[in-house]
Amino acid sequence: MSEFDLIRDYFHWQNPPDSVRVSVGDDAAVLSMPAGRELVVSVDTFNAGIHFPRATPPHAIGYKALAVNLSDLAAMGAEPAWFTLAISLPEADRAWISEFARGMRELAQQHGIFLIGGDTTRGPLSITVQVMGFVRPGRALLRSNAKQGDLICVSGTLGDAAAGLAVVQQGLELSVDAAEYCVQRLNYPTPRNALTDILGEHANACMDISDGLLADLGHILKASQLGAKLEHARLPFSAALLQLPLEQRLEFALTGGDDYEVLFTLPPARFETVKNAAAERGVLFTNIGKVNENIGDLQLDHGLSAKKQGYDHFSAN
Ligand code: ADP
Ligand code: MG
Repeated sequence: MSEFDLIRDYFHWQNPPDSVRVSVGDDAAVLSMPAGRELVVSVDTFNAGIHFPRATPPHAIGYKALAVNLSDLAAMGAEPAWFTLAISLPEADRAWISEFARGMRELAQQHGIFLIGGDTTRGPLSITVQVMGFVRPGRALLRSNAKQGDLICVSGTLGDAAAGLAVVQQGLELSVDAAEYCVQRLNYPTPRNALTDILGEHANACMDISDGLLADLGHILKASQLGAKLEHARLPFSAALLQLPLEQRLEFALTGGDDYEVLFTLPPARFETVKNAAAERGVLFTNIGKVNENIGDLQLDHGLSAKKQGYDHFSAN
């Protein structure tokens, strides 16, 4: 099977939206921007053995490579439009690629995002997805826009994916159902694009949680030149994580990665409106703390060190 057969069979999608004038098959894609919108672009690379365990099913790899990028668009308050895919494959295994493409395509269809081109090469398994989306001018949700007195909120539950990774890699003991749930959250995170319009209207600062709550909240505080206090008893946990001792689930929630929930700040007066709108969409939404004026100071009302940071690819530890 040649590179061209692969592209034709799995990555050359039919029926592009009107905004796509030229997609897969030419030297580059040609796209038409809607009037009165800004373009939001993000890219993430996924390497086997580093960003996902080697045994991850190909369907999940395809899903998650796109999901984490959709999550970045959600975090910016942007509406998904197009994406590119650069994939490096050790071998042309049709069964593997077919499952990978199916996982990616199912999620793309759910979110109305279209594959417009890419690159296919041979090498160690690595996947790079670049997403593009739209936002109204000046309305992108930035990390730097948190305000003193804002409530700090998150979608969904925290720490499930980190527990799932511990199940896969360290044999963390949970009931069979709970272990399955956590591994599922690791492999199939839910990008929170369902909240984009609500957050765009009400949130001040926003980002998605990929490296753990403390590290990621730290980015918002640094960019906004503010501090925060978190209340550990407010952190939202799944029934699966409630099986674990408090210390352990706090550690997963605060320093574990891969949640892909949105973390945002909003004026207290907006809380009820946003909570109700999220509930209508079936998304749990929780206030976990408050922004204050203590620049660079992130406090947690619990003995577990708030200095513990999330995953940093280039740190020594
Ligand atoms: P070039 O030599 O001009 O880089 P390629 O042979 O790499 O062209 O790709 C041919 C066409 O197939 C291009 O339109 C490219 O965008 C598309 N393409 C290649 N790989 C992928 C992929 N994995 N997913 C989507 N489109 C792809
Ligand atoms: Mg190429």
